Amino acid sequence: MNHTPPTHSGFGTLAIHAGQPPEATTGAVMTPIFQTSTYVQESPGKHRGYEYSRTDNPTRTAYQSCVAALEGAQHALAFSSGLATTDAILHTLRTGDHVISCDDVYGGTFRIFDKVFKKMGIEFSFVDLADLNQAEKAFRPNTKLLWMETPTNPMLKILDIQTLSSLAKKRGVLTVVDNTFMSSYFQKPLQLGADIVVHSVTKYMNGHSDVVGGVLATNNSQVYTELKFLQNAVGAVPAPMDCFLVMRGLKTLHVRMERHEKNAKEIAHFLEGHPKVERVIYPGLESHPQHALAKKQMSGFGGMITFFLKGDLAAARRFLENVQLFSLAESLGGVESLIEHPAIMTHASIPAETRKILGIHDNLIRVSIGIEEVSDLRADLEQALKEV
Ligand SMILES: *Cc1c(COP(=O)(O)O)cnc(C)c1O
Repeated sequence: MNHTPPTHSGFGTLAIHAGQPPEATTGAVMTPIFQTSTYVQESPGKHRGYEYSRTDNPTRTAYQSCVAALEGAQHALAFSSGLATTDAILHTLRTGDHVISCDDVYGGTFRIFDKVFKKMGIEFSFVDLADLNQAEKAFRPNTKLLWMETPTNPMLKILDIQTLSSLAKKRGVLTVVDNTFMSSYFQKPLQLGADIVVHSVTKYMNGHSDVVGGVLATNNSQVYTELKFLQNAVGAVPAPMDCFLVMRGLKTLHVRMERHEKNAKEIAHFLEGHPKVERVIYPGLESHPQHALAKKQMSGFGGMITFFLKGDLAAARRFLENVQLFSLAESLGGVESLIEHPAIMTHASIPAETRKILGIHDNLIRVSIGIEEVSDLRADLEQALKEV
């Protein structure tokens, strides 16, 4: 019996079965955690495909195959964090190369670009890629990579993956899409023309706030070969236990994402109608300036909401100190609801001037809506808003 699901299987089937046939020697239905660093060889150089776990590990192989299936990709590579994944991709560049990045990129991504790779002579332009004119003007003869994150963080701007990818392709520039906010379930960047899709699996892909990890997927064999070399040569690989945990998380990705979205839609509407809230940003709201584009390129709107309180930093503090069910914490995408203050927390590494330009003001709050009972989430926000 062949336990490999056909590639045209539905998302939920792939999430549960892709890359994970029962284990050959025992029939174990769950892929074992191959907690080993090395593998016995029959004769020097003669082995069963595994020689050392930095290079390859069976638990990681299964996990990578599963992610590849979910992204509709030929190849996937896993790393020890989302930023280690970014690091590997940037290592394909050379001194003098130029990267175009969206301006309100994840804080840690901005930091590795600005503080690590700039020092090595790689040039960066941070551009509002929602403005296609600005995007087009940003290309230079030495541009090698177009880096986008959509929806952006925390302003939830939507970038047109298809148009931006084709602008890049015309110039021989590779496009990378950070798909962390939508997960493989709601957005398929490779189908829209991107060359590489990346995730911080720390967020929705694993979904249980108990692993830090990253993964990338691509259909470009040359890019894959180069990145596979870097995965081993630089060595930021995930441990077998983490691979197992992310694979377990992936099995419920489709179910979780549906519920995240259902809850988020209801909370977004609630906040939009609340007198103490100035403005709500959620791609699923008609009021989102790019709602139509969001509908076109995503199959759902996700679980992230950004909103502005009426008031100043003190009001925001008071609100955040009074939530009870929402945990005041960085990160997102777990089954539990989290709330945070980007200016002080996740986006502190972005200079105050830039934050101002991007609209990350002191009354801005970001929530990651979990999959609890939505009535409880709503009641918690309601009582905390009363304290403002
Ligand atoms: C968290 C995050 C990252 C970085 O991932 P880590 O796993 O924390 O290294 C990159 N991009 C986005 C959009 C993120 O939310």
